[in-house]
Amino acid sequence: MKQKTILITGGSRGIGAATAVLAAARGYQVGINYLENEIAAERTVAFIKRNGGRAEAFAADVSSEKEVVALFESIDSRMGYLHALVNNVGILEPQMRVEAMGGERLQRIFYHNVISCFMCSREAIRRMSTKRGGAGGAIVNVSSIAARTGAPGEYVDYAASKGAVDTFTLGLAKEVADEGVRVNGVRPAFIYTDIHASGGEPDRVDRIRESIPMKRGGKPEEVAQAILWLLSGEASYSTGTFIDITGGR
Ligand code: NAP
Repeated sequence: MKQKTILITGGSRGIGAATAVLAAARGYQVGINYLENEIAAERTVAFIKRNGGRAEAFAADVSSEKEVVALFESIDSRMGYLHALVNNVGILEPQMRVEAMGGERLQRIFYHNVISCFMCSREAIRRMSTKRGGAGGAIVNVSSIAARTGAPGEYVDYAASKGAVDTFTLGLAKEVADEGVRVNGVRPAFIYTDIHASGGEPDRVDRIRESIPMKRGGKPEEVAQAILWLLSGEASYSTGTFIDITGGR
């Protein structure tokens, strides 16, 4: 059988990189999108290749419509038909209260976390939808449990953007449910990655650890497992749904 292709946005580090590695182990050829950290992207590609998989790195800013369009055209020409998309890119800005948040920050958060999902999914649906001649596919959006908690005092903007990702997931899932495309989400929390440093608190997971019912932070690989399950045929009747990966919190 021909190898399936998956595109993972923000696949160079953290949850995206763990998802890329697991996807390759499950037989996908993997398009690893990244913003600027070419070394990290190539490290993930090299790891996959050393383990017998196929992967390629694609630099593109998914908050830019022009770059998103070019990214999908590169996937078309270098990897062929796209079967799966993981909208994984998400950014945090330094912790602060809403009353201190400026407009430029809010635009960055919503462009990176929400509008990028719309634009990448649009490109994927144009290729995957059976109504447009495609052969179907699956999309997983990486949201956050912050969509449920609101993240007061830290980053309500980020939390609200993830709430929008959840609503987007529900709406898109229903819109394309009879067009061969399933759309689901994962809502992680407290995963050991670099994102907490960009929020100004690199050790955030360890600070919170005792309040997590499992008394530990999560590993990117534990999120990757849920993402790959939602993309797989084992989840063939699941769409517009979410898996929370939060150690019980
Ligand atoms: P991370 O470690 O900070 O990794 C971010 C990744 O996104 C990198 O690969 C980075 O590329 C890429 N990226 C950033 N901006 C981009 C852009 N404009 N265009 C293309 N790529 C871009 O993040 P993470 O913690 O793995 O988070 C992944 C997702 O999980 C996010 O949506 C986040 O909100 C969500 N999440 C994480 C946690 C957690 O505890 N870690 C909890 C809940 C939800 P470069 O390497 O080139 O910079």
